Amino acid sequence: MEALKPDYSVIVPCYNESEVIPVFHERLKAVMNQIGRSWEVVYVNDGSKDQTLSIIKTLAKQDQHIAFLNLSRNFGKEIAMTAGLDHARCIEGVIIIDADLQDPPEVILKLIETWNEKKVDIVYAMRRERLGESWLKRATAHGFYKLMQKIGGKVVLPPDTGDFRFLSRRALNALLQLREHHRFMKGLFAWIGFPSEAVLYDRAPRIGGKSSFSYWSLWNFALEGITSFTVLPLRMATYIGLVVALFSLFYGGIIIFRTLVYGNPVHGYPSLMTVILFLGGVQLMTMGVIGEYLGRIFNETKQRPLYLIEDYHTSEIG
Ligand code: UDP
Ligand code: MG
Repeated sequence: MEALKPDYSVIVPCYNESEVIPVFHERLKAVMNQIGRSWEVVYVNDGSKDQTLSIIKTLAKQDQHIAFLNLSRNFGKEIAMTAGLDHARCIEGVIIIDADLQDPPEVILKLIETWNEKKVDIVYAMRRERLGESWLKRATAHGFYKLMQKIGGKVVLPPDTGDFRFLSRRALNALLQLREHHRFMKGLFAWIGFPSEAVLYDRAPRIGGKSSFSYWSLWNFALEGITSFTVLPLRMATYIGLVVALFSLFYGGIIIFRTLVYGNPVHGYPSLMTVILFLGGVQLMTMGVIGEYLGRIFNETKQRPLYLIEDYHTSEIG
């Protein structure tokens, strides 16, 4: 008897991916058919400026495995993924993968195999090698994951892991309960917990199009990650203040001692300037940190929907 819903859903966020989607879909289809269970793929068009949507629509006419969502504008990858996850009809679990073939679809076989064997809720793909990425990007990514592990506390972020992963229906349902606007998905995956397992893979270079993440947007992404993960930076002000206060107490002692022993010839303009500028800098910086959090609170309190959908087509699987 045929089930009403597909066993697996594959979520693919797409932003200006017209060059790669046809190739991607061919490879994905070949892989998913090998598993021998029912499946669907949900393409989320995240306000692409190229032909992405029309290509997806054409593909959907030929393949009933395809569902697609057209968001009303570009919302960014994190939200596009969320939109896709919201519309996953799967019974067993969901796979999240990039459209640009940097995450080879063939790895999905390993993800599902590991899930079947180990019965864990999350199987994430861990990068062994990042091909076609500059050493600077590799080094910054590595540093970022290191930092996140240090400050994460109870929430453990696996290193060298992107969004490419398998989630059981149970883990997916847990994830869907987290509706915050500032979404750092890797942090959310880690927050829900559940048993998880890693599968190693080599991250391939993009086969076409270009990455939409510049260093500036990566920096903002890191900020998003840190602020949504921990309130540690807010505490930094306390400690910097403490250190500066202790230091000034000590320095004050020296000045009193010197005045008593050597008298008080007026000097110290440079040190005065240094102290004023230093403290001014520290104060502005900590205000900036508070501002980062305040802005996020402001955005969350607006309680807007996470995304708006212009068009939805469901797969005919099930
Ligand atoms: N993406 C998206 N919305 C965006 C930017 C990217 O849906 O605003 C998608 C993109 O189509 C791709 C995935 O997110 O499938 C990863 O993007 P990209 O390859 O640019 O990132 P990188 O691999 O360089 O981290
Ligand atoms: Mg990519």
